[in-house]
Amino acid sequence: MSKLDEKLETIYNDVLKRNPGETEFHQAVLEVLESLGPVVVKNPQYLERKIIERICEPERQIIFRVPWQDDKGNVHINRGFRVEFNSSLGPYKGGLRFHPSVYLGIIKFLGFEQIFKNSLTGMPIGGGKGGSDFDPKGKSDDEVMRFCQSFMTELYRHIGEHTDVPAGDIGVGGREIGYMFGQYKRITNRWEAGVLTGKGLKWGGSLVRPDATGYGATFFINEALKVRKDSFDGKTCLVSGSGNVAIYTIEKIHQLGGKCIACSDSNGVIVDEKGLDVELIKQLKEVERRRIQDYQTYHKHAKYIASGNIWDIPCQVAMPSATQNEINGKDAMTLVKNGCLAVGEGANMPTTPEGVKVFLDAKIAYGPGKAANAGGVATSALEMQQNAQRDSWTFEDTEVKLEHIMQNIHKLCYETSEEYGAPGNYVLGANIAGFVKVADAMVAHGLV
Ligand code: NDP
Repeated sequence: MSKLDEKLETIYNDVLKRNPGETEFHQAVLEVLESLGPVVVKNPQYLERKIIERICEPERQIIFRVPWQDDKGNVHINRGFRVEFNSSLGPYKGGLRFHPSVYLGIIKFLGFEQIFKNSLTGMPIGGGKGGSDFDPKGKSDDEVMRFCQSFMTELYRHIGEHTDVPAGDIGVGGREIGYMFGQYKRITNRWEAGVLTGKGLKWGGSLVRPDATGYGATFFINEALKVRKDSFDGKTCLVSGSGNVAIYTIEKIHQLGGKCIACSDSNGVIVDEKGLDVELIKQLKEVERRRIQDYQTYHKHAKYIASGNIWDIPCQVAMPSATQNEINGKDAMTLVKNGCLAVGEGANMPTTPEGVKVFLDAKIAYGPGKAANAGGVATSALEMQQNAQRDSWTFEDTEVKLEHIMQNIHKLCYETSEEYGAPGNYVLGANIAGFVKVADAMVAHGLV
């Protein structure tokens, strides 16, 4: 553990004691507390009013049984979660993750990060997260539908456009949101567009929402490169994962003049030195739901490395866009040694604490997830705005709004890092700027 202020250390030890075994949650809390030492010196009322202890304790945690039947009639039981973490700035907002690794500690780390991320967007949204240990991989559409219907049959009573607004995350895309929206509508007898985001375009969705997290992360790093009088132009880039965030990160990097030469999934890495064919990846992953290995069937010159480590490939910009803790200390050292100038986290907490330290010590442009990938939730908030106005904006207008939001987040994080004496340390900037706004709202709301 790095040095924590004595009072913050007591708070952290209490978090460890109260939440045993939730290692990802501990990691996310520690990373924020490490930035807050100078903030509590400046604002002693945060300690007096136990704001940090309160932020670390979710307002509400819901855990429920999700029974469903597969195509052969066999019964399966999964576990569903919704953690409503903090509603100081608006209704709880954050995605649902369907992945076999999901347990309470993962949902709490994601929900905790979401509080500060949503604060950074400047939009009226609180923090929450949910999901299930259900694995949609290899399931038929009907099986996924039955699972989603069962999941929503419990979740519906906890959510609503002014209460809690879920969206997608790993394993939850347009198909799953569609099935859940259908079941919500059926149970409540309400066509309530604002209850879920990431909806289909024909029934209340927003243009740019599918693209938003990847585009946003690329915009953030573009701003960080500008500070260094640099740009994506001609840069060799790596993007891990090949899901929603990865695909649109690759697309935007190419639009900004970079060349993305590799992406991955949990089985291996595909390398195309000519630059990845993003339209083919969209077809394989979004339409046909196939594996990234199949890229080679269409581009024989590409290389597939089974169980490969993408971070061993030399690059100038790395955009981790798969999952938590996918870059360890050794990977970070390899990246820096190979000349990496910038790392933009499309994924949530993809770098271990040892890896973060390597990036900060090397003073590369390092955009942590809670700042760099905030474009997804910000565009969800734009979807909510359009739903409230019963309006739909053009792709161009929505993308311009997203780019401005990312520029503002970058500016806020940069200026905060300067104010606290560590210019360019976006970890410090994001944690402090995200925290202060929530803390001030909590002080204003009294002891609730
Ligand atoms: P998808 O399900 O669309 O894609 C996930 C990708 O990451 C897949 O290629 C998957 O490979 C890979 N992956 C997932 N888990 C693992 C693992 N344990 N090991 C190796 N690879 C893995 O999810 P998203 O693209 O939506 O999400 C990716 C990341 O971005 C997550 O960290 C998510 O929290 C974060 N994020 C997403 C947002 C969004 O709007 N969707 C918003 C902000 C952050 P495989 O198919 O083999 O599992």
